[in-house]
Amino acid sequence: MERKKFLICIDSDGCAIDTMEQKHKKCFAPLMVEKWHLEGCREEAEEIWNRISLYSMDRGINRFKGLEMALNECMSRGYLREDLTEFSRWLKETDVYSNGSLEKRLGETKDPVLKKILDWSITSNQAIASLPPSKAFEGVRETLETMSVYGDLAVVSSANREAVEAEWNRHGLIGFVKEVMAQDSGSKTGCIARLMAEGGYDGDHVLMIGDAPGDQKAAEKNGALFFPAVIRREKESWTRLREEGFARFLAGTYRGEYENERKKEFLEALQ
Ligand SMILES: [Mg+2]
Repeated sequence: MERKKFLICIDSDGCAIDTMEQKHKKCFAPLMVEKWHLEGCREEAEEIWNRISLYSMDRGINRFKGLEMALNECMSRGYLREDLTEFSRWLKETDVYSNGSLEKRLGETKDPVLKKILDWSITSNQAIASLPPSKAFEGVRETLETMSVYGDLAVVSSANREAVEAEWNRHGLIGFVKEVMAQDSGSKTGCIARLMAEGGYDGDHVLMIGDAPGDQKAAEKNGALFFPAVIRREKESWTRLREEGFARFLAGTYRGEYENERKKEFLEALQ
């Protein structure tokens, strides 16, 4: 495949596509309440889920890791008793946080909690699939179009592959990207590393766009640059990238003061 000099990695959920709030508030959180019979403290349990996955430094965390945190907090508040030993062991040992990997471990251990977690994850996928169509944030299309002239674009997401590809197709954005890396491709850090190794891009020629601290970390671990979609200011962020940040990226003046300002603004919005 012919490569350009620049690589731009784009997170999907909550960054390019406005899906985070709906997925968490209408699917993951209420289904956790349902599966663990937390109806008696629904409001508190959903608040725990949403705070962890949407409004904290853990925003964008993988669903399984988020579930471990949320269930542990529910237990420490006395809402629930559950033995998470096998689940925590799987989280530590697995390379890929996916239903397939969890199912494999369930086959080996027959642990009833793993079974419940797999059910919750599958039911969540079904619920997400029947949500009303999501929208791309305003400005995304124009920005992707501009960037695709100068660089290779790749989706780097930790969400379910079918969902990501369906969304990018539906919004007519898939044509701008060369590759889609999703939950089944491994960690974002690993995905960026692989793309960089395959294409031989220099760190200063790689930009990761994301809405979560984990996206920033994945960029930094690879020596790549980071541009944040600031929460609740997504449209403004995409416009800024198109009109200002991307030119700096191409010119080699992105790293340093400019990037630090973007990161500062991003983290302040998450506190
Ligand atoms: Mg995201």
